[in-house]
Amino acid sequence: QSKLELIRNSIITIPNYPKQGILFRDITSLLEDPIAFRTSIDLLIEHYKDKKIDKVVGTEARGFIFAAPLALALGVGFVPVRKPNKLPRHVFREEYQLEYGTDTLEMHCDAIKPNERVLIIDDLLATGGTVAATAKLIQKAGGIAEDAAFVINLPDLQGKTKLTAMGINCYTLVD
Ligand code: 5GP
Repeated sequence: QSKLELIRNSIITIPNYPKQGILFRDITSLLEDPIAFRTSIDLLIEHYKDKKIDKVVGTEARGFIFAAPLALALGVGFVPVRKPNKLPRHVFREEYQLEYGTDTLEMHCDAIKPNERVLIIDDLLATGGTVAATAKLIQKAGGIAEDAAFVINLPDLQGKTKLTAMGINCYTLVD
């Protein structure tokens, strides 16, 4: 099987989680398979190694798992974007809309320097709301939200269209 099929086959789909009618794509089974996990990181390294990325930002919590090894391999810093009140120093805060209600993300103000070229990593792209808010945090710090990458894309929700319209290049491994 191809590398992408290996990754696809390692992801378990759980119906009606966390609510009725939702098909949840579970990446913990991918992480438990060392070949699938390594392959997903290797594909990201291959794609970004010559793209002059200055920082890798990961979104809490599953984004951290893919962002940290990628940052090490690219030889650049890793920056966590977190849920509210988790980061101890001065933060930028961005609120964004969910289907019902809002959510908030925070990033340390000094984590990104002006004009740094930033790659955002999350496990899954749905509507793009999480990464759009993350891109705004990076812009508040003066950085350039150049790229975003995901292990899984849910194409029906058109997150790629939303992020591309913001000037963010998207790379996804499996639909
Ligand atoms: P978006 O903001 O693009 O609408 O939603 C993506 C966010 O929700 C990501 O941070 C992702 O971790 C989480 N998410 C939504 N649905 C799923 C799912 O089915 N599986 C996983 N692993 N994460 C999901």
